Amino acid sequence: MNDSTQIITCGNCGAKNRVSFEANKQAVCGKCKLPLTVSAAPVVITDGNFADEVGKSKLPVLVDFWAAWCGPCRVVAPIIEVLAKEMAGKAKIGKLDVDKNPATSSLFRVQSIPTLIIFKDGKEVDRIVGAGSKEMMTQRLQRFI
Ligand SMILES: [Zn+2]
Repeated sequence: MNDSTQIITCGNCGAKNRVSFEANKQAVCGKCKLPLTVSAAPVVITDGNFADEVGKSKLPVLVDFWAAWCGPCRVVAPIIEVLAKEMAGKAKIGKLDVDKNPATSSLFRVQSIPTLIIFKDGKEVDRIVGAGSKEMMTQRLQRFI
């Protein structure tokens, strides 16, 4: 028995990796070769990487559509940070600045912010408009995991 061995699901491709944390080095996914991170941060989604980060993601993706001037977005931001850590390996959490990425925002008809859209296989499956609790967001996201 080896207690320091843990199964980590890759946040990028969804492959399951057996990782030993004894060796004090960065573990890499056996499938896609990207670093495996236990404490994931939200991914910055842009008009440029949306197709790759969201469209090709094997995991469900929750994207927080936000802007710097939006008050309620500042309430949602720390929740998104925590969600990214809690959902690491189960779902991908992203943030998209609507001012800098108008194409994606208008493609999904984001009328007011914050808007949280959950994507599965690149398609919108759920949408939360306005700020909400972490519990509510987790519950909505769990249905697609
Ligand atoms: Zn991987």
